[in-house]
Amino acid sequence: MTKTLAIRRPDDWHLHLRDGAMMRAVLPQTAAHFARAIIMPNLVPPVVTGAQAAAYRDRIMAALPEGMDFTPLMTLYLTEDTEAADVAAAHASGLVKAVKLYPAGATTNSASGVANFDNVRPVLEKMAEIGLPLCVHGEVTDADIDIFDREAVFIDRVLDPIRRATPGLRVVMEHITTSDAVDYASAQDDTLGATITTHHLVINRNHILAGGIKPHYYCLPVAKRETHRLALRRAATSGNARFFLGTDSAPHTDANKLLPCGCAGCFTAPNTMSILAQVFEQDGALDQLEAFTSLNGPAFYGLPVNEATMTLTKTAPTYPTHIDTDDGPVTVFDPAMPLDWSVT
Ligand SMILES: [Zn+2]
Repeated sequence: MTKTLAIRRPDDWHLHLRDGAMMRAVLPQTAAHFARAIIMPNLVPPVVTGAQAAAYRDRIMAALPEGMDFTPLMTLYLTEDTEAADVAAAHASGLVKAVKLYPAGATTNSASGVANFDNVRPVLEKMAEIGLPLCVHGEVTDADIDIFDREAVFIDRVLDPIRRATPGLRVVMEHITTSDAVDYASAQDDTLGATITTHHLVINRNHILAGGIKPHYYCLPVAKRETHRLALRRAATSGNARFFLGTDSAPHTDANKLLPCGCAGCFTAPNTMSILAQVFEQDGALDQLEAFTSLNGPAFYGLPVNEATMTLTKTAPTYPTHIDTDDGPVTVFDPAMPLDWSVT
């Protein structure tokens, strides 16, 4: 008999939907599997105000194909000019579920991010007061810090000081990539959560660099050495409520990936659930998949779990190697291993 696994419908706690033609192409890929997603605000220009977030949400809902059930959870892009009152109003209306901190220059479209953290202190204090989480891209951007060390240095120099200075602030360490981050998150109280992507559970830096450069495996934070990948696997499959799925599925056209200076991002929306089932089964933890994809995230954000269920069946999945968009093809993440689980 074919093995099946039924779990509550999952959510994606870190997603890039982009805008326009790209959004129309990638939104159905996420909505086919995920009930909700935290939508990243790093458009050009970024989604900074409540009014911009409301307009973006309306564009997403207008692009959602008829009959699909999906709720975008909106975020605001924190700048040094962000006003605490605007953030509070966007939260009070139910529109905004988190505020996103990008250190200036850290990743795609992060030029408007924060350089001087003292300038965002009033906003962070308001967020602590109203219980609105801060989602953090946890890398320093100093040119003298090695790219493979930027997450660990960020924890010491930025994250821990922010949390100490703003007691009660709920923080999500996004797309963690190191054992340092796993250890830090594990040692904190329940005001801290950490998301882990699909691709960081299956690739290490050799996948990017050994035997020729593989631009489709390049993302930020960049994948680290194997010991870090294994630490992420243990955290994700542990059932620890601190850790939950944020795919960071980040579509770029092949034309923008395959350049002398190519974009960072892996597009994992179409095959994430198949890959995760494979990973959790390999680690003898299929019984923890639902906690990682469907329970721990809502608990952190104070939202109800989804009532609908998803069934995974142990048969080889079919998914495209790339999807077509009006901007050009987007390559789907290659997990570099055979997959045995399909969403049915
Ligand atoms: Zn991201």
